[in-house]
Amino acid sequence: MVKFKLYSPPKEGKEIKLKDKKLIVPDNPIIPFITGDGIGPDIMKVAKTVIDSAVEKAYSGQKKIAWYEIYAGGLAQEKFNELIPEDTFEAIKHYHVALKGPLATPVGKGHRSLNVTLRIVLDLYACVRPIRYFQGAPSPVKHPERMDMVIFRENTEDVYSGIEWKQGSKEVKQVIDYLNSNMGTKIKADSGIGIKNISVEGTKRLVRKALDYAISQNRRSVTFVHKGNIMKFTEGAFRNWGYEVAKEEYGDYTITEEELFEKYSGTQPKDKIIIKDRIADAMFQLVLTRPEEYDILAMPNLNGDYFSDACVAQVGGLGLAPSSNISDDIFIFEASHGTAPKYANQNKVNPGSLILTGGMMLNTIGFKEAEDLILKGIGKTIAQKTVTYDLERQMEGAAKLSTSEFGEKIIENM
Ligand code: NAP
Repeated sequence: MVKFKLYSPPKEGKEIKLKDKKLIVPDNPIIPFITGDGIGPDIMKVAKTVIDSAVEKAYSGQKKIAWYEIYAGGLAQEKFNELIPEDTFEAIKHYHVALKGPLATPVGKGHRSLNVTLRIVLDLYACVRPIRYFQGAPSPVKHPERMDMVIFRENTEDVYSGIEWKQGSKEVKQVIDYLNSNMGTKIKADSGIGIKNISVEGTKRLVRKALDYAISQNRRSVTFVHKGNIMKFTEGAFRNWGYEVAKEEYGDYTITEEELFEKYSGTQPKDKIIIKDRIADAMFQLVLTRPEEYDILAMPNLNGDYFSDACVAQVGGLGLAPSSNISDDIFIFEASHGTAPKYANQNKVNPGSLILTGGMMLNTIGFKEAEDLILKGIGKTIAQKTVTYDLERQMEGAAKLSTSEFGEKIIENM
């Protein structure tokens, strides 16, 4: 058994291993978790209980997760005087799969986002966010049930790489002087600068993940969402490299929209996924007006951040927004929302995102029956109009439950 300086792994439970890019999962896998800041403790406790109940029920006690607490953020600072101890990275690398609560980042000052740090250090290049509707969930649109998408957001590049220079600094002056003198730009001297970098490698590996998923889950289309009309060499290139991967590496499985009409008279063959692309601003309209025409979306980092929240708003909001950040050998599961600090320790917020995230995690480790129970439990609980404040305030005649009561109801409804 591996040794860490700060943490002792649970005695019961076995390690998840990786062989030929596939997870080998024992019946009692050790899964590290990070509680997180703000509402993290409220939702993590409930999510773990619901996940445990689903596993217990699905496999009549034959399978059981051995939870293993590791630390980042405020709790790590308190306990070890550092925001992310090295052991946290090592434990995640060693055990491959982890569940994570939200971590706080100060805006415009202080330390860099711990979430971004985790993604960059562990090279978690794809953020995967399923957007699905549960009957009865409040929605600002007329037909929320038409939305059933999975967003694949590139997670390591773009303006999120953290390559920035502060306005007024010596460094920003050097960058501006260089660009204005050598590259023909006319950047104002009092600007701050950030770099937008999008690579062939970063794009192609993200698109492969989206295509692999689309094939394995029998999905109908993959759409690249970009602003390539304006940012030709970054977002436009993302689109072009995406088409390249689809054609060169997945040619047996994919056709373009053009081919759909030219070769197949507009009728999609059962065994082909349609590859489309849309300009991001138009796509914001389309996810509102014709969501049923879209399925898997693949996009650069910033677009992905915007689209995930915009889409999830149509199906119940951030309280029902699961997410994972993954590479080829590491899978971190976390809710899409943040620490919502004003609600910390009030047993008030919706644990639904983290519970659904737990469902994604169970699916990934092959505990699909347990994920199904979670989906059933949440679906039924929402349909019964017994929900937390965020949904209750938008639903007529709903009863307001606390975080823990909502969890109990989900378990009852599995
Ligand atoms: P936020 O924490 O996501 O909260 C924004 C609002 O969303 C809340 O005030 C609440 O809305 C609603 N909300 C979020 N989670 C909810 C839940 N579980 N149940 C019900 N409603 C929920 O975003 P933020 O206030 O912009 O960010 C706060 C901190 O979180 C920042 O430090 C940020 O950096 C961090 N953050 C972390 C992550 C991450 O760890 N992955 C992600 C995003 C943000 P109402 O006020 O309308 O009730």
